Amino acid sequence: MRKLALDDEIKRCRRCDGMNIAGVTASAPGYGCLTSPVALVGQSLCEKCMKTQIPFTEGSGGLIDEGIRGAGQQKKNLFISNAVHCHPPKNRASQQHEIVNCSPYLHRELEIVRPRLVITLGRDAERVLRFFYPRARISGHPFEAPRGRLSKDVPFIYNAKHPSWILRQHDDELEDEYVSNLAAAIRWSFGDARRKAE
Ligand code: SF4
Repeated sequence: MRKLALDDEIKRCRRCDGMNIAGVTASAPGYGCLTSPVALVGQSLCEKCMKTQIPFTEGSGGLIDEGIRGAGQQKKNLFISNAVHCHPPKNRASQQHEIVNCSPYLHRELEIVRPRLVITLGRDAERVLRFFYPRARISGHPFEAPRGRLSKDVPFIYNAKHPSWILRQHDDELEDEYVSNLAAAIRWSFGDARRKAE
């Protein structure tokens, strides 16, 4: 119920000039399972994602899909959102005021889902997650699971690169390594992380 009201708020939001225009700079609320142990957070909504309303549709999202499959999961079992919920015109980088205006929505989504692991995909996501959870334990790349007990209130964070940056390197080995690290992190969130928090 809280999530539906929040989704509606995001769809009606006009905080940023020129954003949230249907078919041009439309928004999509976070997608997926509200009890997922893992949330993936990207930078902003992709162009194709406006139509599907699912972050990381096609394009570089193919690497995310491979990572999810590698963990034996389906996209709908995870929670996936963005630091900026609208699609910036012509795929430009998000502006600072858009991140400031929009990240509270992401924070509210994460407060509903309460994932044990957040995977940030790119620098904007990394920065907002550090701001939300200054006490969070963090893994850089490659993914390394935390030792010991986990906090119930603060997610563990894995800072991964954005998949479009990975694709731009045109390096098959790097792509494989990226996908297998995503898979390891997602698998951990559904397995060991769950047990440690119980
Ligand atoms: S980017 Fe976020 S804050 Fe800005 S108009 Fe879109 S939904 Fe609202």
